[in-house]
Amino acid sequence: MLDSLSPDTARVLIGGAWRDTAETLPVLNPSTGEEIGRIARGTAQDIDDAVTAAQAAMDGDWGRMPAFERGRILTRIGRLVAEQVEALAEMEATDVGKPLKQARADAVALARYCEFYGGAADKVHGTTIPYLDGYTVYTLREPHGVTGHIIPWNYPMQIIGRSVGAALAMGNACVLKPAEDACLTALAFARLAQEAGLPAGALNVVPGLGSEAGAALSAHPGIRHISFTGSVATGGAVQKAAGGNVIPVTLELGGKGPQLVFEDADLDAALPFLVNAGLQNAGQTCSASSRILVQRPIWDELVRRMSDAYAAKRVGPAMEDHDLGPLISAVQKRRVEGFLDKGADLPVLARGAFVEGLPEGGNYVLPTLYGPVAQDHALAQQEIFGPVQVVIPFDTEEEAVAIANGTEFGLTSGIWTRDGARQMRLARAIRSGQVYINNYGAGGGVELPFGGIGKSGHGREKGFEALYGFSVLKTVAAYHG
Ligand code: NAP
Ligand code: MG
Repeated sequence: MLDSLSPDTARVLIGGAWRDTAETLPVLNPSTGEEIGRIARGTAQDIDDAVTAAQAAMDGDWGRMPAFERGRILTRIGRLVAEQVEALAEMEATDVGKPLKQARADAVALARYCEFYGGAADKVHGTTIPYLDGYTVYTLREPHGVTGHIIPWNYPMQIIGRSVGAALAMGNACVLKPAEDACLTALAFARLAQEAGLPAGALNVVPGLGSEAGAALSAHPGIRHISFTGSVATGGAVQKAAGGNVIPVTLELGGKGPQLVFEDADLDAALPFLVNAGLQNAGQTCSASSRILVQRPIWDELVRRMSDAYAAKRVGPAMEDHDLGPLISAVQKRRVEGFLDKGADLPVLARGAFVEGLPEGGNYVLPTLYGPVAQDHALAQQEIFGPVQVVIPFDTEEEAVAIANGTEFGLTSGIWTRDGARQMRLARAIRSGQVYINNYGAGGGVELPFGGIGKSGHGREKGFEALYGFSVLKTVAAYHG
């Protein structure tokens, strides 16, 4: 059923039916550059049909379904995903180029999101509010209606889980536009959702180009909320389009995550986080830690240990499960190489290595560690979205905070120190949606609210918080005398 070359992959799912489109797009394997299948090229008309089908689901069985039944369906989807972790992981590794162990972690996370939001569906409720004599006042949490979901190629399964999972839990009907470069697991997820009994139209999937299907979805007057994860430029365009319809938007736009390493830090504990948070998924991670801020007394030791770790990193085909796979596309490879060109004036501390016999058509880039790097250098300011980290020295806590807060982003940050008072001070001082103390990433944390400040975006997904974002609060004031 989860054969990535199944005919369903070249179709859109609208109102429970898999439909052909006039045109299709190639599915490329980033490890080899080979075409491994086709996906549908959904049009503005397909988006329009999908929104109509989603609205019909809202007006029909799905809209009337009790919260606990929605939760049961989500939980069943989670179980089916969990049973298919290996198949989904292989599909994702082949389509997106991520090493198998990362793809497996993504599939496990998707199952967890479905379980979490399945369990939460009937636990979100309103309140009663003491008011004037003769009144009873209460609030209701209601779905927005039809919600749009535009997701990127870097973590398709995790982002479907956190966005579509939470929206379905609250009773919305979803139109999902996956990224052109990474549609297969989105389509597989939709098939599993059908198998789990999700009513027709509650989830519609329209693969296609961002400029066609994506733009049509974000401007569609029939959607009541849009959730977008991707670049700052496209996120801004989506927000503008949504503004035309005056609907709420959740934007998750990436970051320039710092880790602040103080001289009293446990370096043995920190080291794997410092390096892997930059190189996980070949650096194509919104919450990547691409800046390592190091207090000067430990500079030499830390830089030596990070350099040794870099030198041991191997880059190769995703299905061989090396430390790093290829980047998603030739376009992304060129983009990252453009940053490496901008770094030509910087000292290179270390690089990883390619495995023997790399396929020629793959989008491989060597991981590179630069340092010391000035705070205002392009590589210390811009999101690279590749396997590149910069190391920046600092002397004082105040200086470290100024550097940490000195970009236009604010998504995730890490603090490494044994000083409890400093941990508390910095957790408040750092402008960031999530702050990690003596860890980075907190293992992904399905339960933990996630989102940005500044150009990293706004709104929160993940955890219980997402359920508030995917619902509308209504206040009912009854006068009964
Ligand atoms: P992108 O353009 O922002 O793509 C993200 C999603 O938006 C994809 O589904 C894309 O569809 C869609 N899209 C594109 N143009 C659209 C439009 N005009 N209206 C509505 N939707 C549209 O990102 P990208 O070009 O793939 O990557 C560029 C850079 O963005 C990366 O180098 C990285 O810096 C950043 N990025 C960040 C994240 C993150 O997690 N925060 C994820 C991905 C990329 P198609 O892909 O089908 O065109
Ligand atoms: Mg692909």
